[in-house]
Amino acid sequence: MSHIEQDELAEIIDGDSEIIDERTDTERELIKNSLATESAQPISERKINYFTDISTVDGLSGKDREQLSRVTKIFKFRANNYYLNLINWDDPDDPLRKIVIPCNDELNDPSDLDPSQEHKVTVTKGCEHKYKSTALLLVSEVCGGFCRFCFRKRLFLNDNKEASRNIAEGLGYIQKHPEINNILLSGGDPLMLSTNHIDRILTSLFAIDHINIVRIGTKIPAFNPFRIIDDPELLSVISKHNHDDKRIYIITHFDHPRELTSEATTCIDKLITTGSILMNQTPLLRDVNDDPNILTELFNRLSVIGAPQYYLFQCRPTKGNGCYSVPLDEGFRIYQETINRVSGLAKRTKYIMSHATGKIEIVGFEGANIHLKYHQARDPENLGRFFNLPWKPGAMWLDDLIE
Ligand code: SF4
Repeated sequence: MSHIEQDELAEIIDGDSEIIDERTDTERELIKNSLATESAQPISERKINYFTDISTVDGLSGKDREQLSRVTKIFKFRANNYYLNLINWDDPDDPLRKIVIPCNDELNDPSDLDPSQEHKVTVTKGCEHKYKSTALLLVSEVCGGFCRFCFRKRLFLNDNKEASRNIAEGLGYIQKHPEINNILLSGGDPLMLSTNHIDRILTSLFAIDHINIVRIGTKIPAFNPFRIIDDPELLSVISKHNHDDKRIYIITHFDHPRELTSEATTCIDKLITTGSILMNQTPLLRDVNDDPNILTELFNRLSVIGAPQYYLFQCRPTKGNGCYSVPLDEGFRIYQETINRVSGLAKRTKYIMSHATGKIEIVGFEGANIHLKYHQARDPENLGRFFNLPWKPGAMWLDDLIE
């Protein structure tokens, strides 16, 4: 499609911007009724209710609710009944519990809220341009749940205005930069936007000649697969935008094999029918997936359902994330043991530190050194550069190694 002007872009985007949670009960009922013949599951079981007040979560003790309410005054809590029902509440160390339920240690962490310094690569409101061919649009400030280890938790703070559902400014920038050929939609979770709004965003991005790929980063298949299963219109919209020369990639975020429920698998099946290409990425998380057995099962199952693993990220040292981080030497051992056991599909996974200077691959350890490589780099001169640093026990980030 041809070049479109800035004010036309604004018109395309500046329409409805409701998030899916705000659909009326009548609309929800209509969608569910249209699917009644497609699923044997009773519709009543598909009702998704969101919880933002930790004191209303049944599985927690009274003491926990009181203590954790202090944490959620700083870092918001959000989860829904589908995901909370996957938690084994009899196990205080349940890995899915660790993903969404706060812990007191979050308040005892002096780290930065933006360790990757995303503000330095923000070019217009909600648009980041760090690597030559990729721009990132922060299109949503809400998710199906809030992961406690989120490196963008700053977006969920009340006074943060970085994300924008109106992407007109970002589109204007992208249009003027022909070196950008792919866009990553992120936030927050783009699939929390209404289907109409997602359609508008995809339409306007693919209308730009030099944009061939749009990636949608989403944890909705893990947090609320019914958002996709119960919305055939969303699947049609995604299908409509896939062509020989324009393609949507859906980057899922499953952290643990127990998130791969039959509903999540159905959701992935449906996304595959849209012609999109699916891949998964996950951070390495203490007491969630810091075990080669867990990661091997996760990676193998992801290959089978059609969303093979792509990156394993070192947990970013974001404020409140300290209790989820694993030292780099331990992380590499877990990664390598996993990679040794999985098929070639999952062996493509790289263990990556998303640093302010670029995506740094942890290549290995030899003698007293750690070997690293710039897989992506903010400064193009660093692209592909191998480097060694003396290993410092306990280091969890590049900065720990060079201090
Ligand atoms: S789904 Fe992604 S953006 Fe949302 S809280 Fe989790 S890690 Fe952060």
